[in-house]
Amino acid sequence: MAPIVDIEELARGVRDGSRTAVSRAITLVESSKTEHRALARELLVDLTADAGGAARVGISGVPGVGKSTFIEALGSYLVDKGHKVGVLTVDPSSVRTGGSVLADKTRMATLSANPNAYIRPSPSAGTLGGVARATAQAITILEAAGFDVVLVETVGVGQSEVTVAGMVDTFLLLTIARTGDQLQGIKKGILEIADVITVNKADGDRATEAQATAKELAGALRLVYAVSKQAGGGATSWVPPVLTCSALEGTDIDTVWQRIGRHREFLGVRGLADKRANQQLEFTWALVRDELEQRLRNNEVVATLRVAIREAVLSGELPAVNAADQILAAYDSTRDEKPSSG
Ligand code: GDP
Repeated sequence: MAPIVDIEELARGVRDGSRTAVSRAITLVESSKTEHRALARELLVDLTADAGGAARVGISGVPGVGKSTFIEALGSYLVDKGHKVGVLTVDPSSVRTGGSVLADKTRMATLSANPNAYIRPSPSAGTLGGVARATAQAITILEAAGFDVVLVETVGVGQSEVTVAGMVDTFLLLTIARTGDQLQGIKKGILEIADVITVNKADGDRATEAQATAKELAGALRLVYAVSKQAGGGATSWVPPVLTCSALEGTDIDTVWQRIGRHREFLGVRGLADKRANQQLEFTWALVRDELEQRLRNNEVVATLRVAIREAVLSGELPAVNAADQILAAYDSTRDEKPSSG
């Protein structure tokens, strides 16, 4: 059991930029315990006025593409320029296994030793929604602590990219040299959420190949965006630039950062505020859906039906629609009685 937390003091510590306070605050928002959640809400209310000041950048790519090497390079570049850089991770594997492919302590060793950088591995919060919830709150904490760049890293699989895209201003996709057929392997969905794309490992004898891939991708993107324009998409849409870089050699990292800056300029103050406001609204409902799913999963009456329903559906005896109705009826029957009007 954690000791009683003095929220005011913790908030003060965060605002003063104390690393210990930041760590404690993030641990608090990661907790799923009811009493901790109440304290976390109090903390967030306290800190929100001081938040919002960071460039929030999502960084995604399949394992091995060079994310941690890139973040190490970009983070060091930014810290050298006088920025304070926070790095958070949203790792879907931590949800399933409790372990995490991104939590490896040896990742980003140089950056993590820098006093102007703060790296926090992905929480294992039970569900992707839980991780997203903790991460969104961690962004607020880092911003209140004066971090002016927050990088949110995620592995390029499934829903986690969409989740991260929903909490950042600019979404950067890292990829590596591929040829024709392999290019098809880059999921269309990810191209649609990427604001900037960079082909990493453009060094040594792979440099030419990386350039060719970037060219090919840029061509493919122009087609996608031309089509969406014809279909009535925004007239002044941002077409994601496709760059190359070498995270290992630290080349063209500055160009990638410049393009991220240009994307923010494209959004403008108004556009950025609108984007963030819409993200908040989307996120609100995502949190509600996640919480409802958790409640359904933890519902005792539903649990007693589970085995029977499973067998009935598998044997073909019970149609899915009827099974769903039974589960929902069982769930509804356990909800608090509505207050009577009398
Ligand atoms: P992650 O799984 O996406 O975080 O990838 P890592 O950053 O761990 O990198 C995977 C491997 O690729 C490591 O062996 C890195 O040294 C290597 N790597 C990363 N960036 C580059 C690069 O720009 N050029 C080259 N040649 N290798 C790189």
